Amino acid sequence: MSAPRASLNWRRGAKLNHATNMIESESLVADKSNHVKPTEYEIERFWRYTDVRGPNECWNWKKAKNKWGYGVCTLRSKYQRAHRVAFLIKNGNWPFPLCLHSCDNTSCVNPAHLREGTNAENSRDKVIRGRSNAGKKHHFWGKKRPEMSGDLHPFHRNPNLTLKGSKHPMAILDEDKVRDIRILRQNGESIKSLSQAFGVKECSIENIVKRKSWKHVL
Ligand SMILES: [Zn+2]
Repeated sequence: MSAPRASLNWRRGAKLNHATNMIESESLVADKSNHVKPTEYEIERFWRYTDVRGPNECWNWKKAKNKWGYGVCTLRSKYQRAHRVAFLIKNGNWPFPLCLHSCDNTSCVNPAHLREGTNAENSRDKVIRGRSNAGKKHHFWGKKRPEMSGDLHPFHRNPNLTLKGSKHPMAILDEDKVRDIRILRQNGESIKSLSQAFGVKECSIENIVKRKSWKHVL
């Protein structure tokens, strides 16, 4: 029985390690013992890698960035995101739980643009500032969404491309017949008799009369 127990413990240990790694990588938990005091050299090097500008401007990180555009650096041979290190240098503690940008510029490390905040605040900021990806990437992972609906549909952008009315190869009626149908219907002709007379279905007559189809014919 000892072997399974050992393996269980091993697995539990592995899980715990994984969880700690995840937490560390996301830096969601501010572990007091984790706080480091950057040395003068580290601080000097950090600002050397930064495009320092005016106090209200964005200070962009000049070195490596991750795929979300956040500047990345190492501090005590540990991978960190640059804006978090900027917060640490300014305030002496890691931001908890998150470090938020008030300028929406992910590569900005100006401490004046950084503040502590929760995940909920971050999500709210995203929605308010149109930074949210909700709906934008649905079913189009990593691709640009084709704008194929509404006013952006190619047929709406280039109305000349569509064949309307009697120009359409499948058209049975033409513009004159449509005008006749509307006048006859106004004069009390039944939809059924019109459908038989013009050789189209009753629903087509209804749509013509209600101006759902052949809208361009006045
Ligand atoms: Zn900024």
